[in-house]
Amino acid sequence: MAQKTLPFNKEQLQQIIAEYGTPFHIYDEKAIRENARRLIKAFSWAPEFKEYFAVKATPNPYILNLLREEGFGADCSSLAELMLAEKVHILDENIMFTSNDTPAEEYQKARELGAIINLDDITHIDYLEKHAGLPEILSFRYNPGPLREGGNDIIGKPEDAKYGLTKAQLFEGYKAAKAKGVQRFGLHTMVISNELDPNYFIGTANMMFDLALEIYQTLGIKIELINLGGGIGIPYRPEQGPVDLEYVGRGIKEAYESKIVPGGLHPLKIAMESGRMITGPYGYLVATVLHKKDIYKHYVGLDASMANLMRPGMYGAYHHVTVMGKENAPHDHIYDVTGGLCENNDKFAVDRELPQIDIGDIVVIHDTGAHGHAMGFNYNGKLRSAELLLKEDGKVKLIRRAETIEDLFATLDFSGLEK
Ligand SMILES: *Cc1c(COP(=O)(O)O)cnc(C)c1O
Repeated sequence: MAQKTLPFNKEQLQQIIAEYGTPFHIYDEKAIRENARRLIKAFSWAPEFKEYFAVKATPNPYILNLLREEGFGADCSSLAELMLAEKVHILDENIMFTSNDTPAEEYQKARELGAIINLDDITHIDYLEKHAGLPEILSFRYNPGPLREGGNDIIGKPEDAKYGLTKAQLFEGYKAAKAKGVQRFGLHTMVISNELDPNYFIGTANMMFDLALEIYQTLGIKIELINLGGGIGIPYRPEQGPVDLEYVGRGIKEAYESKIVPGGLHPLKIAMESGRMITGPYGYLVATVLHKKDIYKHYVGLDASMANLMRPGMYGAYHHVTVMGKENAPHDHIYDVTGGLCENNDKFAVDRELPQIDIGDIVVIHDTGAHGHAMGFNYNGKLRSAELLLKEDGKVKLIRRAETIEDLFATLDFSGLEK
């Protein structure tokens, strides 16, 4: 059976647990940096390439900071995400603000930071103008509608997705923005999520290049930035492989050379805003087995819950599970691996073939580096865990402490209760 690797062994993990306890998410700095460099290299042919890391995937300033050091910007969609970018000195056009249903104060903050604002709707031109003023550069998010086959569980079909402008609105939007004095323009789309087929990304680039040329030909507007969105999948299952970034880069280069260059839009900045593929495979949720129970099925209960990792409960997503020290033991037991929420979907794995598990075993849940801790919540009064960074020198740094009961109760004032 295919295995997934870990950046630590059982002894190293026991030492970390001795200091921090479980549960926690731990991120592998070296692997994140190497991966970031791979992505940038795959687009080194482009006149300019920028990855705006989707902050929502791992909204931790230490992660954002190391990605900034690798040359990444930030893709923000809320006030808090803008503030996080600001804290780590990701500023100006190194921020792309791709929001939806946006409050005025968030547009004001985006303007204050000099972010590239990416409008989600045609009515937001006037809304932005009224509440924050129009910037020099403006981008629009394109929703291609029922052009593409499929869609998927996370983002759905484009025509069912709440995001973006229709094609007709897009043309109207550029025209209106230009008439109001906007001078520079970007174009954005995000149509797939967790996709492992590299051809989709090349297809998206072709679609966007054609669109930019059509905008140029009909409106005379030269798009200077095309953001292809995020959505690059990761191999959650051990038998899957990662997206071949070099292949994607080459495919997009071909499209660029055959469309953008002869069409007169060279030099054009290419951008992406992936989250998942940047950090996802390099984070791990580490937990301890608290209980076992045998009824109609066999259950293993952890000291972590869906509040620490929502994806399996929310999407039925597969996350690989390793029982430390039993990697090579026969996987001859079938368990549901659960948390303690009073929700029956609080399961990290269902009917999973695993080795014999004992109380006290350390369980590692893989691929939690993106959309893991970030999706945490406090239902049932569960607390969000710490986040740790496994540094390149092998040392471990606490980059977010675990929540306490005091944090949970911080918004309550018990003194107003009658005796
Ligand atoms: C969530 C999101 C991303 C990142 O998606 P990944 O699947 O993590 O790559 C990028 N852009 C937008 C607009 C998003 O909503």
